Amino acid sequence: MIHYTCDRCKRQINIADQTRYIVQIDIRSAVDHSQEELEDDIDHLAELHQMLEGIADSDIEEESCESSHHGRYDLCPECHRQFLKNPLGRDATLALGFSNN
Ligand SMILES: [Zn+2]
Repeated sequence: MIHYTCDRCKRQINIADQTRYIVQIDIRSAVDHSQEELEDDIDHLAELHQMLEGIADSDIEEESCESSHHGRYDLCPECHRQFLKNPLGRDATLALGFSNN
């Protein structure tokens, strides 16, 4: 049986009677748009070329960049609820003030 652990509270998620929530985070820096498009085209062509040559490697897509972050986290139902209340981890008092609006 596969055991999942909540990435927030580190409790084990018993998928037999609990729902496991997956949070996917994809952060990118907001770079100049025209430049980004140009780079995307180049990357795409290079990728296609590598595929044609049969040397495509899954690592190529995982190009690590300091300004971007990909994350995938498991959450238990309780942490999922807390996450929805405050997805950006804002100060608790600020979040409270916001919800009292
Ligand atoms: Zn949790």
